[in-house]
Amino acid sequence: MKFYKRIETRKINIGGVIIGGGSSIAVQSMTNTNSRDWKATVRQIRQLEEAGCEIVRISLPDIESAYSVSRIKKNVKIPLVADIHFDYTIALEAIKQGVDKLRINPGNIGSKDRIGVLVKEAKKARIPIRIGVNAGSLKKIHNFSDNSSRAKALSDAAIEHVKILEKYNFQDIVVSLKASNIDITVKAYKLFASKRNYPLHLGITEAGSIFSGTIKSAAGLGIMMYEGIGDTVRVSLTANPVEEVKAAYSLLQSMELRNSGIEIISCPTCSRCEIDLIKIVSEIEKKTFAMKNLKRLSKPVKVALMGCIVNGPGEAKDADLGIAGGKNMGILFKNGEIIGKVSPDKWVAKIISMVKDYNS
Ligand code: SF4
Repeated sequence: MKFYKRIETRKINIGGVIIGGGSSIAVQSMTNTNSRDWKATVRQIRQLEEAGCEIVRISLPDIESAYSVSRIKKNVKIPLVADIHFDYTIALEAIKQGVDKLRINPGNIGSKDRIGVLVKEAKKARIPIRIGVNAGSLKKIHNFSDNSSRAKALSDAAIEHVKILEKYNFQDIVVSLKASNIDITVKAYKLFASKRNYPLHLGITEAGSIFSGTIKSAAGLGIMMYEGIGDTVRVSLTANPVEEVKAAYSLLQSMELRNSGIEIISCPTCSRCEIDLIKIVSEIEKKTFAMKNLKRLSKPVKVALMGCIVNGPGEAKDADLGIAGGKNMGILFKNGEIIGKVSPDKWVAKIISMVKDYNS
């Protein structure tokens, strides 16, 4: 894979997953089950694991939900992050229960003494803390009307929180500075990245539904990734969290920052296309996603599926495998060479078997 020049950040270990220090950008998500219902939460985390999620966050609104942590931990494989506001005793209980990371805002978790106790326990348990500054809950931001000042308010708030932890000589810190506006978010992350080298958790908060939220996230996160910013990512969607994982991998794949198994290159079709390419591509995508989940795709493979011979052979030749359509047939390519012909009703089966062979 081609890596952009990433901004050097401090290496942090989250329950065995390393972020920062040039590691691959880790994909994370958040459950939307009731955390007190540990069985439902475990079920959802397992679905996220299947989809390739590497770190999962659960919110702990009260002490009862914190009591579920050890049972959830015992039944899942990926590191568990506890999201806590206002009450430091919930965070202390989460640490006791074996959580792998905390997401708090030191500014709203209690007095300095209480933060001191919490930091001491996090240090003892060797777990990092994410400072998650969010424009929605930062009152100061409304004092400003322009995006640059709002971004500075976000970055200043993050630095203020960072300083609280640094006072206790705690540096296992991850930071996020989320807003639902792309310009504010990008400016805030850039500003913070120019001042501190803690790893950054990227996200555009409250981005929206699967379709619009994915596009908005890709636009904002893509700018930051292109500039080398970001160590872990959550695409925040109003949807089943599995969709967040799919979107994050697709974005990282498009940015050439992660290989998620298969890359499909396909044309939009036009009147030259004489096959049902839309249906074929959608079926192949579904089947290869399932193969990825079953860890049957270890070797990256680029597959071109083109509607006709205008751009088809060129794209298909550049890919590892490909088919360029014609009237009632397709020209099959492997590693740039034509290897035969295949009728449209056999495209899906042929490509799937070739992808399997490629990975065997
Ligand atoms: S590859 Fe052929 S069918 Fe597809 S959009 Fe281009 S010209 Fe149209």
